[in-house]
Amino acid sequence: MSRSADPRRYDLQQLRARVLSEHGGEVDDSIPQLADADPGLCGIAITLPDGTVRASDEADSLVSIQSAVKPFLFALALEDTGGEAFDLVGIEPTGEAFDALKLETGTGRPPNPMVNAGALLTAALVDGDDAGSRSRRILHGLSAFAARRLETDDDVARSEHALGDRNHALAHLMRAEGTLEVSADDTVEVYARACAVLVDAVALSVMGATLALGGVNPVSGERVVSARVARDVVSVMATCGVYDGSGRWMRAVGVPAKSSVSGAIVLSAPGRLGAAVVSPPLDEQGTSVRGRVASELLSSALGLHAFGAE
Ligand code: GLN
Repeated sequence: MSRSADPRRYDLQQLRARVLSEHGGEVDDSIPQLADADPGLCGIAITLPDGTVRASDEADSLVSIQSAVKPFLFALALEDTGGEAFDLVGIEPTGEAFDALKLETGTGRPPNPMVNAGALLTAALVDGDDAGSRSRRILHGLSAFAARRLETDDDVARSEHALGDRNHALAHLMRAEGTLEVSADDTVEVYARACAVLVDAVALSVMGATLALGGVNPVSGERVVSARVARDVVSVMATCGVYDGSGRWMRAVGVPAKSSVSGAIVLSAPGRLGAAVVSPPLDEQGTSVRGRVASELLSSALGLHAFGAE
């Protein structure tokens, strides 16, 4: 017997008040712009199949999308390569940190598209003749997922490019293995710009909903990617989206999701809804502390867990 709350009436403001009392975690300091984030920020939004978007306070506060871009880069790469991206990137979880300097043994492929190696590669597989045109295609594609024209924070992009030593190392490693065909520097540039796209909880929840609802954006009505691509991406989010915390996440929340160092989390509950939480303090795995708690409470209240009620 399901006694789930109605997502049209569920009190997101009360959920936000509840998770604001969580004070654990540290704001990421890999680039100055992230180190400056407001640790008190917390925005929550959900997007339903009829296009209704519901939002708490601060759901319009912008942060850089960071790794929450990875499912969407993968989706665009699959769409643009007609699925060939599956030959070039693995889909198995790594049990390691997001920026581990490691490729698949034997093949030299990135382990999966949700870690940095994989996202660097999928960014390079998106259509375009050079870094500039690939970045434009990505921004355009992300905007279609969000049903809104998104913008890039150029300062964040520059910092990511200048300070992303491990990303440069990974791109060179993939060049050496023959997995990456375009230039390593261009690849880091495109990935850095993708991570620097600004989103709020509202935009990210619409993006998550588009993947959860078979690739059609419920707000704009536009088909952004094929149903097959949407299903494939959500499957990989389920197993790899929270890095080496994916198993614990799946047990506790039961909704495919992608975390990021800006504290943004996007969730895609297949056939049900998209959701997003933006709150900068992170746990050891790089997952927003309040984002995790809010996701657990939301999943439990709305009966979103993929594998059954409590
Ligand atoms: N910009 C970050 C990086 O590549 C994104 C990582 C993340 O959000 N986990 O290092």
